[in-house]
Amino acid sequence: MTVIRARVLGFCMGVRRAVEMAEAEAGRKPVRTMGPLIHNPQVLASLRDRGVEMLDEGELPADLGGLTVIIRAHGISPALEEELLRHRAALTDATCPLVKKNQREARSLEGAGFSLFIAGEKRHGEIAGLQGYAPGGTVVSDAAEAAQAALSLSRRNPAAKTALIGQTTIGVREYAAIGEAIRGRFPGLKVVDSICGAVRERQESLRELCGRVDAVVIAGGRLSSNTRRLLDIARSLKKPAWLVESAAELTEALAAEIGGYQIVGLSAGASTPDSVINEIETKIRLLSP
Ligand code: SF4
Repeated sequence: MTVIRARVLGFCMGVRRAVEMAEAEAGRKPVRTMGPLIHNPQVLASLRDRGVEMLDEGELPADLGGLTVIIRAHGISPALEEELLRHRAALTDATCPLVKKNQREARSLEGAGFSLFIAGEKRHGEIAGLQGYAPGGTVVSDAAEAAQAALSLSRRNPAAKTALIGQTTIGVREYAAIGEAIRGRFPGLKVVDSICGAVRERQESLRELCGRVDAVVIAGGRLSSNTRRLLDIARSLKKPAWLVESAAELTEALAAEIGGYQIVGLSAGASTPDSVINEIETKIRLLSP
């Protein structure tokens, strides 16, 4: 069996930056992260081993004095940031610069009187943070919801100035379909180019890879939205595909199933560290018949 890696895979700039910031702070002072720093269980476990625990938004301790709180790569809302400061935390902002740019853009569009549509997963931290910068925005998770929301706005305010901004990790085609659905009611819709190039690159590399392999393994966390999207893309291209979080998940049965294919592609989400990708590749090679 041959294993071929995608041309671009694994850690992106924003995730690498957030992990390096957390590692630099760990050990020097008491550190917490606001929610999961990134969506990768191994990285979070390794930070925990170094004393970096995670704060839960719903159960913030009354006094965070003496603690450094690191804001996750996906960002948080201004209201939560203020709350942390009120609780006396010292903040280190590891929000990815691209997420930050979208947050500023959302605030400025709403300030300029646009009715804002926010495309993304309703329960994702990045969307919660983004919505905090544009509280009047409507979150839509697919084209059907977008069409419905546009219809409802057109009834209330047919002359509304509208704009669309999206989660950095949303699929290119999905974002375009959401834009089209809104344009059906508001032809002048302003669309913000908010998709992260790193995500797009990983998705395009995977599409190329799928043309050369018989099956695909995606390495990464199940809670990582861009990792799950890679899995969806491979399956939409009719490739047998598995999402594998760690080498430990590769049981003999699973490795044998994967090893039944002659050429296997390997890709990984933007929050998957090199060490996990390497361990998974080694184990596939070792266990395959
Ligand atoms: S995927 Fe893009 S937006 Fe998200 S953390 Fe990485 S570089 Fe930033």
